[in-house]
Amino acid sequence: MDDRDIALPVDPIDIDLENKVNIITAHSAKGLEFRKVFIYQAVENKWEKYRGLNTGIKLPPLNTPKITDDTDSTEIDERRLFYVAVTRGKDSVYITYSKRYFDADTGEVDTDEKIPSRFISEMNVSKHIQHTDLVAKHLEITKLLLEENHTLHISDHNKSYLRKLITQDLSLSATRINKYQQCHYKFLLEDIYKVPVYDSVHAILGNLVHDGIRFMYIKRNHGRLNDDALFEIINLQIQKLQQRLDVGMIIEEQTSYDVLKNDLEKSLKIYYEYLLNNPIKYLRSEQWIRGVVDGIKITGRIDLLAEDEYGLIVIDFKTSQNIPSIYEFLGLGKRSDKTHLRQILFYKLLIDSVSHHLALFKNKTVNRLRLEYIDIKAGTVKIIEVPTQGMFEYKLRSNSKTTKSHDIDMEIKVLQQDLKMTYESILSLDFSRTEDRSICKNCPFRHHCGR
Ligand code: SF4
Repeated sequence: MDDRDIALPVDPIDIDLENKVNIITAHSAKGLEFRKVFIYQAVENKWEKYRGLNTGIKLPPLNTPKITDDTDSTEIDERRLFYVAVTRGKDSVYITYSKRYFDADTGEVDTDEKIPSRFISEMNVSKHIQHTDLVAKHLEITKLLLEENHTLHISDHNKSYLRKLITQDLSLSATRINKYQQCHYKFLLEDIYKVPVYDSVHAILGNLVHDGIRFMYIKRNHGRLNDDALFEIINLQIQKLQQRLDVGMIIEEQTSYDVLKNDLEKSLKIYYEYLLNNPIKYLRSEQWIRGVVDGIKITGRIDLLAEDEYGLIVIDFKTSQNIPSIYEFLGLGKRSDKTHLRQILFYKLLIDSVSHHLALFKNKTVNRLRLEYIDIKAGTVKIIEVPTQGMFEYKLRSNSKTTKSHDIDMEIKVLQQDLKMTYESILSLDFSRTEDRSICKNCPFRHHCGR
């Protein structure tokens, strides 16, 4: 019909609009009113045009009577439309946004983290909505969902349903394996039952640093990475941090905004200095990979795929200040648990599981896996790098002349066994609580477990 340009007659739909949900655009909502209004995807680039990296200046709030002359007319229209949407609600208006959305075309999760619309922070919502302490809110929710001092038992009827769900839907990542190994019960709550949890302060900071680093690489690819660009990137990331605070997305611990801002700024400056002396070439970032190993679905996101004269490197950025020594990294210390080694080798499993997908890696082989730790105290970037196969030589102490060898192929085999055992254990519905109470210290389910 489209090809022949033939229009089909459309009969007007006669429905009773009372007590129904109306899904309409803000434009067509003009002049209408509803009891409750939900504004969806209130993120920059949806409600207002993305205006690049130099957006460090806050625009006048909605209730400012006169909009300054230098605000462009498109933005005035966008703000008016948002105002129309917000004022349609008689009883209440819910404004929602997420860090990421599915891309309707690719079916994949957007790689870019979304920024809440600036129109939200201009409304000063945090003054009106009592949700600045997300932890208290979270505890309230988990108290409703999960009884205090209680253990969830899975009925026989639900057991077969859960097994089916796990077989069909569960993908294991390095993070999930680590989480399951730390506490099976926590894994059940977070990854099977999907009980909502808040982002830790550390995760929020890590995301903002990752994003900032990605912008640096992109700028450098265009030959535009300099002090001014760094200044813009830092401002943008600080603005995002501020926006998260404005809409009440923090705070787990009583970490002050100034400490977070300082750490964010320092981390980006340290990485910038490191990047200036590092001729590595950016290929792609935030790349999700899904594969299958021994019939088990696996997934993971590569922070950065880069290239230098020796080949392709997968890089994982770390902002945690618990930086392991080589000894601990290899799991040779009494207290080390190989968490980071497992994380980095997991990329190898992922890459091999999608080897048919060589275009992703430019038909080249990834020959190194690298962890880059941003050490705020020392002001440097510490690197731990391992090959994707063969022997890995390391010095126990930096000033030592003697080296030891470690077999990466063997570690990959161990990881594969770990993956299999973890999956089988999950499938057998072993969701027991950890005996190690130190793990419970920062767990959001403490009240429920009575720990
Ligand atoms: S409080 Fe402890 S036992 Fe309970 S889920 Fe968290 S880590 Fe597991």
